[in-house]
Amino acid sequence: MRKTIDFLLNDWLDVAALAARERYSEHSRETFASVLDACQRIAEEKFAPFNRLVDAQEPRLENGVVVLPQCAYDAARAYVESGMLAATQDYDVGGMQLPYVVELAANAFFAKAGIGLGGGGMLTVGNANLLLAHGTPRQKAVFAQREIDGKWFGTMCLSEPQAGSSLSDILTRASPDGDDSAQDPLGPRYRLTGNKMWISNGEHDLSENIVHLVLAKIPAVDGKLVPGVRGISLFIVPKRLVNPAGELTGERNDVALAGLNHKLGFRGIPNTLLNFGEGRFPVSGRAGAIGYLVGLPGDGLKCMFHMMNEARIGVGLGAVGIGYAGYEASRDYARNRKQGRPSTPAGKDPASPPVSIIEHADVKRMLLAQKAYVEGGLALELYCGRLVDEARTGSAEIVPSIKALLEVLTPIAKSWPSEWCLEANNLAIQVHGGYGYTRDFPVEQYWRDNRLNMIHEGTHGIQGLDLLGRKVLMDDGKTLDLLAQRIGQTVQQARGYAELQAESAAVAQGLQTLLDATRAAWSTRQPDEALANATPYLQAFGHVVVAWLWLDVARVAVAAAAGQEDAFLRGKLQAARYFFDFELPKIAAWLAVVAARNPTCREMQDAWFES
Ligand SMILES: Cc1cc2nc3c(=O)[nH]c(=O)nc-3n(C[C@H](O)[C@H](O)[C@H](O)COP(=O)(O)OP(=O)(O)OC[C@H]3O[C@@H](n4cnc5c(N)ncnc54)[C@H](O)[C@@H]3O)c2cc1C
Repeated sequence: MRKTIDFLLNDWLDVAALAARERYSEHSRETFASVLDACQRIAEEKFAPFNRLVDAQEPRLENGVVVLPQCAYDAARAYVESGMLAATQDYDVGGMQLPYVVELAANAFFAKAGIGLGGGGMLTVGNANLLLAHGTPRQKAVFAQREIDGKWFGTMCLSEPQAGSSLSDILTRASPDGDDSAQDPLGPRYRLTGNKMWISNGEHDLSENIVHLVLAKIPAVDGKLVPGVRGISLFIVPKRLVNPAGELTGERNDVALAGLNHKLGFRGIPNTLLNFGEGRFPVSGRAGAIGYLVGLPGDGLKCMFHMMNEARIGVGLGAVGIGYAGYEASRDYARNRKQGRPSTPAGKDPASPPVSIIEHADVKRMLLAQKAYVEGGLALELYCGRLVDEARTGSAEIVPSIKALLEVLTPIAKSWPSEWCLEANNLAIQVHGGYGYTRDFPVEQYWRDNRLNMIHEGTHGIQGLDLLGRKVLMDDGKTLDLLAQRIGQTVQQARGYAELQAESAAVAQGLQTLLDATRAAWSTRQPDEALANATPYLQAFGHVVVAWLWLDVARVAVAAAAGQEDAFLRGKLQAARYFFDFELPKIAAWLAVVAARNPTCREMQDAWFES
């Protein structure tokens, strides 16, 4: 993986060029490489050897306390000490001012080595970034700074037992906490009551405090909750209460652990049901969790989206990391496992020794598919990461278009690796044969860990609705035009290479089919007709985007090889070919139902499911 990361960062995305920007001027290709070296080493030493153990010894409750194995503490500490919680932050808050794309690349090592270890760094970083963007100076100094320092860890508390995809239906309430509540130095102070389900890292003692970011509704004067998302506000609810200077007061906030969820995978991270304000830990003698408003009342979801967009790129990267772990494990297994004999024009020679299964075309197919998925996914995430840096430090005239591109690519960055790197893990099991179906080999765990990614941070179905129902329509379709222009530029460049003629034409054709299907889906202006097939649209869109990126990566690989035989670069071209020959043609079937506004799913009746 390291060699591919270096190739993508240096040869393809030219990250060293970022050092010319003022923000990154103290960096260079060498400083980026030393961050990657350090993270790779920590991941290999503190994460990978314990990935199995945190799966086997899942978090458990003893006397109301979450018990985790020692390696969870060691990995969390190692992650804090790596400085990665502050990787992209300003120097004056203790950060490294690294480009986001380098942070992402470095985090790929941790995702591959042990996705459930490290104390949920991504949540803490996202939480701090949200507060830096929307918090008051005091909220930043007290809460965000301690997260950046790794003293306190963060959560995001959106989901409730009855409200997952539809957050407008949350029932958690926030009411002003007395007459002086508006004057609290930490922000307008409220009392929260309600239940939050599925909260990752909601309870533990990996850090001295937990900063919960909680969505809740402030009731109207009649006591009723405002329907819809406009009624949702955002609150900081610390597990342990703090004074205005940010010191712990020694008092617990009224946030109680109601139970742990027992998960299929991702078991290193405790997943919790939290009760806010039920009176288990009364504050000043009464029930109600203390929370400080972030931003304006009613702006909660808008603020939270700041965290969710980053989290979505992070989810995609996590899926890639786990996909990579399975790819490398199954490749190594296939090199060592002897089975069968090759077919020759004269048939099979039973007297000849068996060959390594990597010699069989069908096993190569499964490995090539994995390579195409995981390296394509990595390219997608790093490309988005590079766009984030461009949006942060690029010239004023290009920033709006970069932000628009990111808007349309975010559902793909989240969903594509979640689906196809999971499929890579599925194939990794298959390469192992019966051994892959046992717990003696790691690939079954990779599949279980990766299965989460199509579910959290907006399910696959919800990503499709967001893409077709909102993102491609943004700015009267101009955002989609921007993406189409970028893809067109790559096609033009790749046409200059004899080896990439068919691939360039396939991307151009795929893009056209996608644009035509988008128009056809919306031609009747009926959302129920257009959106009934939003998931096949999401799949096709993702495949076109990844084909585009594979074309560009292949172009750079061909140029770098300069006619010489180089196994690493040749492998890039072959994986690209696999994607074009075996994967991209799938978009025809996906987009056919989209363009026809196929009513089969929409018209199916509940009663017809009778079995
Ligand atoms: C391990 C784990 C960790 C998590 N961590 C967190 C966390 O830290 N913080 C947090 O707030 N949440 C967290 N979640 C919650 C997660 O975000 C939700 O599970 C997810 O948003 C889906 O909500 P739900 O489970 O209620 O499913 P539902 O919303 O009930 O969806 C069930 C199915 O119906 C489909 N569906 C729902 N509505 C529609 C629609 N309108 N149109 C088409 N299809 C629809 C969905 O796509 C899905 O397939 C976590 C979940 C898990 C499993």
